[in-house]
Amino acid sequence: MDRYINWASSGIVIGMVELKTDASMDAMYEAGQVVGRGLTAARKAADVGVSLLELNEVAHEVLRGAGASSPFLGYRPAFAPTPFPAVLCASVNDAIVHGIPTSYRLRDGDLVSLDFGAELGGWAGDSAISFVVGEPRAADLRLVETAERALAAGIGAAVVGNRIGDIAHAIGTVCRAAGYGIPDGFGGHGIGRHMHEDPGVPNEGRPGRGMRLRHGMVLAIEPMLIGGGTDGYHEAPDGWTLRTNDGSRAAHAEHTVAITDAGPRILTER
Ligand code: MG
Ligand code: MG
Repeated sequence: MDRYINWASSGIVIGMVELKTDASMDAMYEAGQVVGRGLTAARKAADVGVSLLELNEVAHEVLRGAGASSPFLGYRPAFAPTPFPAVLCASVNDAIVHGIPTSYRLRDGDLVSLDFGAELGGWAGDSAISFVVGEPRAADLRLVETAERALAAGIGAAVVGNRIGDIAHAIGTVCRAAGYGIPDGFGGHGIGRHMHEDPGVPNEGRPGRGMRLRHGMVLAIEPMLIGGGTDGYHEAPDGWTLRTNDGSRAAHAEHTVAITDAGPRILTER
């Protein structure tokens, strides 16, 4: 995850975390709506026989139509050997996150995770969905449903006065109770003018620990679940894709969420 010093903020900076103004959160909602539209369009296009590059093109067209740009395209964090070459991450079956869209054509029963971002008006949005194309396996439906439930639990804990650890604990509890693994070292993050800002939001943790949540914090909350129940993962030879070590399937769900005095506000709602 990138670290940065926020010198251009219009909000209040606490440590490395920028508290967004209400107007800024409204502007982030506009960026978030582009993200939601792109994911919806890509999901609608996803079917047996459709390639991952075609899904990337569908999402790219939504960015172009909105006059938005991609925070994914050309992104190169410290761990990456090459800039990310697409606007969409497409992670199939045992790929957990950061899958590069290729000419691979989806097959019946594939479990697909799509992660998509947009930058509009100087603000970023980030969101992800998982689903099955064709005839689903029961185990995959349960995995996807649990990822959504873990995300909902994390969002439910994203309230003023709670701490980052409360979000992490809420996510981790749902995942572990269902018997799934959690890849350590990857998780959610602050988001604003940049896609990746402080603080990190782990997918497992101790309640009551970490930074206190305040009105104006905006977080990308994103549980990643390993269906086989083990935690191990590795990087594929492409230097980006994370795959499960046990070969089991994985699911990922994400929303960009503003913490407000009126409760969590999902900026990437679809
Ligand atoms: Mg994402
Ligand atoms: Mg994210």
